[in-house]
Amino acid sequence: MVAGRVTPDGMISDLIIQPRPTTAAAMLVDPFEIIDSLITPSTIAIGLGVAGLVDNRTGRLAWGPNVPGENLAFGDFAADRFGLPVAVDNDANCWALAEVTVGVAAGFEHAVVLTLGTGIGGGIITNGEVYRGSAFAGEFGHMAVDPGGLVCTCGNRGCWETLVSGRRLDELARLIVEEEPEGAVARSAGSDRAAGRHLLAPALSGDRAAVEAYRQVGDWLGRGLASLAAVLDPQLFVIGGAVAEADELVLGPARIAFLAALEGAGHRPTPTIVKRHLGAAGGAVGAGLAGHRLVSNR
Ligand SMILES: [Zn+2]
Repeated sequence: MVAGRVTPDGMISDLIIQPRPTTAAAMLVDPFEIIDSLITPSTIAIGLGVAGLVDNRTGRLAWGPNVPGENLAFGDFAADRFGLPVAVDNDANCWALAEVTVGVAAGFEHAVVLTLGTGIGGGIITNGEVYRGSAFAGEFGHMAVDPGGLVCTCGNRGCWETLVSGRRLDELARLIVEEEPEGAVARSAGSDRAAGRHLLAPALSGDRAAVEAYRQVGDWLGRGLASLAAVLDPQLFVIGGAVAEADELVLGPARIAFLAALEGAGHRPTPTIVKRHLGAAGGAVGAGLAGHRLVSNR
């Protein structure tokens, strides 16, 4: 969890970073204790970004494959406790709002923001606003791209995020260490269980296996982005989350695969694929901006 005080122009301060709650009960305790510690007499609203299927009209988390609990009434809970206006939204939608308001997508009418972390979070910007469909649009991570593929946390097989996520890089790092127990990735992990974070230094030093792991993830990223371009035709793709920290190791192969798979490439404007502007606090900035919007729209 990332929290802070956010100004109307998207500046964040007093940053607090804590592990995400692991039980449903803690989901309605831990975040609110952090908020309690941040509220001052000048606080005008609260914004909450939550991973999973969030209905921003009711302020409820319906369900999420990577979070505990379901049908959690974050909005009502926070309003009762703090007596302030509360905006609740999907965390990737918050990030998208931040990127289009004060980030790399500012000035773009049509953009898709993807956070590649534990899974894939997605936000669609159309006509400068977050597009929601009936409520839950943007769950790109659970598009089936390989129906016979790996089992996803959502229960289906072959979802995009089984191939493009921090979790996938963790798996690839472990496979590399099994195959090359004396290799650079194994040395990078040392006595720790191998994880995606152990790939970066070896890859930057040119280790073949580590570079190939990022290439595979980038390749699947690019193919998926081409499908999204076919449906949504954005001007810009913004890529964030831990996987994006590998920069061109992932984004380079993604651009190649994207152009190879893009329908009518050369006969249409090519969407640009860029790294996020806002760092780990991007979701918190967007949640804060959503809170400000709630008040300014009244
Ligand atoms: Zn899934």
